[in-house]
Amino acid sequence: MNQAQIVLTLILLQQGLAVFAWWGAARLLRVSRVSALHWAAASAVITLTLVLYALIGLVPGVLAHGLSNAVVPLAFVLLRRGVQRFVRLRYTDLEHQALVLVSAVVIAAGWQAGAPESLPILVATAVPAWCLLRMAAESHAPLQAEFGTSAARVFGSAIGLLGLLFALRFVAGLAWPELAARPVGVDTPLNTLLVMSFMVIGLMLQMVLGLLVVMRLAQRLSHLSRHDSLTGLPNRRVMQDAITTARLRHLRRGTPYALLAVDVDHFKRVNDEHGHAVGDEALVHVARALRESLRSDDCVARMGGEEFCALLGDCDRDEALAHAERLRGAVAATPLRLADGRPLRLTVSVGVALAADAVEPRALLEQADGALYAAKHAGRNRVVLHAA
Ligand code: GH3
Ligand code: MG
Ligand code: MG
Repeated sequence: MNQAQIVLTLILLQQGLAVFAWWGAARLLRVSRVSALHWAAASAVITLTLVLYALIGLVPGVLAHGLSNAVVPLAFVLLRRGVQRFVRLRYTDLEHQALVLVSAVVIAAGWQAGAPESLPILVATAVPAWCLLRMAAESHAPLQAEFGTSAARVFGSAIGLLGLLFALRFVAGLAWPELAARPVGVDTPLNTLLVMSFMVIGLMLQMVLGLLVVMRLAQRLSHLSRHDSLTGLPNRRVMQDAITTARLRHLRRGTPYALLAVDVDHFKRVNDEHGHAVGDEALVHVARALRESLRSDDCVARMGGEEFCALLGDCDRDEALAHAERLRGAVAATPLRLADGRPLRLTVSVGVALAADAVEPRALLEQADGALYAAKHAGRNRVVLHAA
């Protein structure tokens, strides 16, 4: 085995392992399943290409040269489709079908007509170059939005470098057909350098894809640990952090803020009369009404059960009371439509506590809860301000 063939064998092993890794990831992970399956399929096709290629001399030339090059476009189309799915771009399937079909027809027709040996190689380098460079361009903005500029640049560089390498080999194939017709397994210094670069950049690409999946998984877990799965609202932990931040701003600049403790009235009756599923629907309904009746930079959280909390930033006593009243009125005015069309009226009671220098976040929550208790006691569906 010459040096180039050794490296090709290593790439074959690397791609074979990638098939297992992506197939395993698709089965085990809850994120990016479809992309992982695409990437497993892409690596499987490249593995097939390299196996056919390794059999040059042992199997008919049409298989070793023709078929191995004809399926290369399919591998890169699958890779790109997986990335498009991952970054939530539309599949460009018309383009993909055209690339795969035209490549196969050109190679087959060239073979029949006795075209030079460089033709399949030209096709098998032009299509990957096109797919990779397009992929690098189209995925940059969505990756930047989700993972930040550095991650988008690293991914773009790995994909772009691999694309340039294929483009280089394509141009070399056009300029020096005899040289380029020599398959990459033939031992020339240029070929050895080329396959080594393919190996390193290919490995880098697999690692970057893996890293992106891990980053998305970490983001999902972080989101789950800070949000309520039923209503999608932030949870108690987020609210505590928000109160701490608002308090620091209050201490530093005197910015006032207020805390509203909100509890659905007679919620147990909703469950008892309509069932738990309608109870859940009612909670989602109230959560939406609360979110929509407050400003977008106010934090609204589900604290547990049918209890919610709203943090109103930059808000004095009168504004806090006005916001609380608007929120109460919004819930009372928008009944939940049941499956049979009947309206289910829901109301909330609200306790209001205003920021004071000495009050710790936990004590402020207790003050709002105390005022809420007073609102319940006074007959529910009302707003009560904590009396300092
Ligand atoms: P009050 O007006 O005094 O607040 O009366 P209430 O019935 O709303 O209060 P109570 O604390 O007695 O009951 C709250 C009910 O909320 C009991 C519990 O089963 C229900 N609950 C808590 N979490 C959920 C949930 O996630 N889904 C549903 N469907 N019900 C829930
Ligand atoms: Mg209640
Ligand atoms: Mg309650």
